[in-house]
Amino acid sequence: LVADARVRARFAPSPTGALHFGSVRTALFAWLAARHAGGDFILRIEDTDQERYIPGTEALIIETLSWLGLDFGEGPEIGGPHDPYIQSLRIATYRDHADRLVAGGHAYWCTCTPARLAAMRDEQRARSEPTRYDRRCLTRQAEVAEERASGMAAVVRLRMPDGVSEWDDIVRGHVSFANADIDDQVLLKSDGFPTYHLAVVVDDHLMRISHVIRSDEWIPSTPKHLALYAAFGWETPRFAHVPAVLGPDHQKLSKRRGARNVLEYGELGYLPSAIVNAIALLGWSSGDEQEVFTPQELCERFTLERVNAAAAVFDPKRLDDLNGIHIRRMSTDDLVEALEYHLLGTSKETRRLLIPMLRERMVTLADATRLCAPLLGEVRLDPSIEFPPKKVDQATAVAMIDACIAAVDQGGLDDQAALLERIRSVAESAGVKSRDAFRVLYVAILGTPAGLPVIEAMAFLGKEKSLQRLREARARLG
Ligand code: GLU
Repeated sequence: LVADARVRARFAPSPTGALHFGSVRTALFAWLAARHAGGDFILRIEDTDQERYIPGTEALIIETLSWLGLDFGEGPEIGGPHDPYIQSLRIATYRDHADRLVAGGHAYWCTCTPARLAAMRDEQRARSEPTRYDRRCLTRQAEVAEERASGMAAVVRLRMPDGVSEWDDIVRGHVSFANADIDDQVLLKSDGFPTYHLAVVVDDHLMRISHVIRSDEWIPSTPKHLALYAAFGWETPRFAHVPAVLGPDHQKLSKRRGARNVLEYGELGYLPSAIVNAIALLGWSSGDEQEVFTPQELCERFTLERVNAAAAVFDPKRLDDLNGIHIRRMSTDDLVEALEYHLLGTSKETRRLLIPMLRERMVTLADATRLCAPLLGEVRLDPSIEFPPKKVDQATAVAMIDACIAAVDQGGLDDQAALLERIRSVAESAGVKSRDAFRVLYVAILGTPAGLPVIEAMAFLGKEKSLQRLREARARLG
């Protein structure tokens, strides 16, 4: 890793709901950028918009980051040198800074009522002009001061300077805006709370953030932020605006459109390492063929320069593929642990016996529940399942089961390879493809024509149970 302690990247979510793949992708890129450089990753909760606040979501955000392994060195609960990391606890700081801007002539008080602003916008629209604040209050500051003194509600607005705003975005390249197109943004609301724009700039500066990594929906706001950095006389951080994440329907993932809470993927049996891998590939590529990465490898390889500016599409199939690969790479000990939740009530020893059968057959850990059900419980022969199965005649089915009963009865499970051979030859001499003939045994032992490898499954069940199931199936054949 390149040692550059100056990289300080933050994730600054608003607590307006659980994290979905889009929001976690922003967090992951900030975490990777920090870890790649040996820098710091900071969590800050941006909760100044009290109307959108959903109680309890800070805890969900922290739980999600920690489940995924995106550890932060400063943030709520753990604190840090720039405490507090929750914006609603920093209100006095923002007010102070708003006052400084007003004193320096970079911002001004405005007492225009919502009704006046609405009428102003209607007139602008009627004249086919862009709607923006007409700076009425800028020219009457003495009067505005009196109005405020008499108790009139007032906001502080940024006085957007003339000229052009431009920056070299790490992802987007050179970006520029004509300031004439940008409204005089409200910085402090009449309730004394800051808007996002004031709070984000003040905090990113005070918290010494070197890289602002965020969703590209904030690009139009960046000129306002640059104006604030200039007004305060502060150095600007680097900006990396990462593209939106689209769902399989090519619509932007959003809470409103029901994007799934990332924590739910855990319940469904997805591994944090596979999710991190899949999310990293949403807009980033290594530049070579490699697509499967551990989090550690991602930290080594990731750079913001290799993030694509085009929107990325989340493909659930790719997540499934990666999850299967990450599962197959897990150590047996780790799988024994990880499967506890999905094989409820089993002992470690039982799980250890099941893992060799399961490992190659799971897309998610939850598949273990379904695959192992016939081994952990009773098999109920589903009358809707064709038996004998397709492509196998009655006589062959009987021969298969009889041969299996005889072999198992004579201790055949002690040598699984020999047992497999013996039954295969029965299929062969009946002239039936062994894949088809074996379905007879699958249905007998597992209740379904596919699933865990049937000889190993019988070995797990043991002689008595296997024989019992084979005999029941035999009875069904008449
Ligand atoms: N609170 C903003 C959000 O949730 C953060 C934007 C930023 O990172 O500057 O989108």
